[in-house]
Amino acid sequence: MTFRTRFAPSPTGPLHLGHAYSALLAYDMARAEGGEILLRIEDIDQSRARPEWEAQIYDDLGWLGVSWSQPVMRQSEQQARYDAALDQLWEQGFLYACTCTRADIKAALNAPQEGSPLLGPDGVIYPGTCRPHKPSNIGPRPDAVLRLNMLMVLQALDIDHISFQETGAGPNGEMGNMAYGDMIQTVGDIVLARRDMGTSYHLSVVLDDAAQDITHVVRGEDLFEATKIHVVLQRLLKLPTPIYHHHKLIRDDQGKRLAKRDDARAISLYRKEGATPEDIRSIIGP
Ligand code: GLU
Repeated sequence: MTFRTRFAPSPTGPLHLGHAYSALLAYDMARAEGGEILLRIEDIDQSRARPEWEAQIYDDLGWLGVSWSQPVMRQSEQQARYDAALDQLWEQGFLYACTCTRADIKAALNAPQEGSPLLGPDGVIYPGTCRPHKPSNIGPRPDAVLRLNMLMVLQALDIDHISFQETGAGPNGEMGNMAYGDMIQTVGDIVLARRDMGTSYHLSVVLDDAAQDITHVVRGEDLFEATKIHVVLQRLLKLPTPIYHHHKLIRDDQGKRLAKRDDARAISLYRKEGATPEDIRSIIGP
């Protein structure tokens, strides 16, 4: 099997040690397998993406010794494919328009619950306020927030479990062939098209991994739980499911995972202070 992976940063801040770990691991794995690594700029959030951060990504990766196959994919240029998938799912009746505000959702969740979890991999589990009783796909797809009707999807897929192959580990040490049970209780009706961006992380990542023929996804364990959403979307859109390799997160001295605002751990800062790529490799460890 060919090995084709990708590094998919969002240009919304500096690359930090966590990104360096992810990029170097994917690069090293691709080299060890005689495969290749692609680069994807995940810039669907145009309110936060900046060209200077994108330029810094290329520069930092080059300095780290990571090289990638061309072309680079930029998500902000892929809207036509996202629209086509949304049109298809709308016509099939799997989507519905949602007019809830955050406050509406919070209020609905404050109503007595039957002990169901409040948080899933996509944030608050939607209480279903706008969910129609039967498919609402009359007419063309509206320009609105669109949610996936998870119950309808699972019934249509007619599968009793969803699984994927994991060669790394999830946050609780999960390995091997991962099976998922209750997508209704633990994930719910996620948003596939956000109003501000006309797509969502989950939809774009699944479509782009397929468009770039990715066979192995190497990424942080913070995205492990989201993988079940990705597998459901792959089944629905008849796309292949890659092998997943979730890796450890690089944490700060307090044990908290690094975030974009942790500029102190920015690669550019280490560079300015005279560190070498080997220094970065030894700080992040194997
Ligand atoms: N763009 C995401 C990030 O920067 C990575 C998404 C992925 O690897 O699936 O965290």
